[in-house]
Amino acid sequence: MQVPFLDLKTQYKQIKSEIDKAITEVLESTSFILGKPVQEFESEFAKMHDVKHCVGLSSGTDGNHIALWALGIKSGDEVIIPANTFIATAWGATLCGAKPVFVDCHPESYNIDTEKVENVINKKTKAIVAVHLYGQPADIDPLIEIAREYNIYLVEDAAQAHLAEYKGRKVGGLGICASFSFYPGKNLGAYGEAGAVTTNDDELAQKFRMIRDHGSVKKYTHVLLGHNYRMESIQGAVLKVKLKYLEKWTEERRRVASRYRELLSDLEEIKLPVEMPYAKHVYHLFVIQVNSKPDKRQEVRDKLQRFLNENGIGTGLHYPIPLHLQPCFKELGYKRGDFPVAEQLAESGLSLPIYPELTDEQIEYVAEKIREFFRRKC
Ligand SMILES: *Cc1c(COP(=O)(O)O)cnc(C)c1O
Repeated sequence: MQVPFLDLKTQYKQIKSEIDKAITEVLESTSFILGKPVQEFESEFAKMHDVKHCVGLSSGTDGNHIALWALGIKSGDEVIIPANTFIATAWGATLCGAKPVFVDCHPESYNIDTEKVENVINKKTKAIVAVHLYGQPADIDPLIEIAREYNIYLVEDAAQAHLAEYKGRKVGGLGICASFSFYPGKNLGAYGEAGAVTTNDDELAQKFRMIRDHGSVKKYTHVLLGHNYRMESIQGAVLKVKLKYLEKWTEERRRVASRYRELLSDLEEIKLPVEMPYAKHVYHLFVIQVNSKPDKRQEVRDKLQRFLNENGIGTGLHYPIPLHLQPCFKELGYKRGDFPVAEQLAESGLSLPIYPELTDEQIEYVAEKIREFFRRKC
């Protein structure tokens, strides 16, 4: 049996006629940037996330940047970021000329450890970026309190967390603003690059709209410094079609996760991801950890990955090098041992295939092969 890590083809086949029609309409309109398809997508995406504004962008990375840019983050400022996330979260700060300051993650939620945030706050701190990693919302209430107490911004990176909920509230409107990614492999994926920012703040939304379009509301009058971060019409049209299925697909991801749990929870050699009591997890990724001793865990994880691969099962590493140990951040002066939880995840974590189209047979096969690996090892 083959279980690829990601399978976008099955989904495309299911919705091909609608997608092809939507793309053809854009081609025939010859209007390729922003326009009606993007506007319609923006308003539907905002409504689904109970947030007032959605501004469509060229990528999630641009969302990370524009969020902090529009808030006025600049050189000399510091921005708090979890040590375990995709690199783009940190580009938001560095592209504004600000310094990313890393914080370890929580051993159960894998998100920023809210108890460790205050230790790094100083006069230069301007924002906290809470990443809803793997599809599970960060513990937002303590972060809201910290942000209020120190008068700093709380920004969400919801790139992996479309429709996820924190205590019954949708992500996207939990802080001052949020960025989303529609990279093809994300829970809601475009057919190319795309992203968005959301906010309940009218003024901020207006700034986002201007910055993404060269700092202008009227062509060739540039009120603010800006960039070209506009969403393409074809991506808006594709996303609008796919948005109709997002709730159903999210439930399918949750089905896969609970099936993995049923099949694997008694296996002592691995730790399954924890769905926190405050969270509705949308399982962009299902990251297990091997429970081996610190000096062995990376070796066992790599062997497990190789064994699964030899049996036709694709897996991923998210992420193999935590941000504080990335070569590009060498001059920030972090060292191994600074963030033990993030480092443990990097060494022992393995992402299993998870997507709405995964069949029960495929899930059972993955679970059986994981069991077989540990049986053979003993
Ligand atoms: C994917 C991702 C991004 C960047 O999104 P792109 O659309 O690929 O630019 C940012 N942050 C996180 C946490 C992501 O997973």
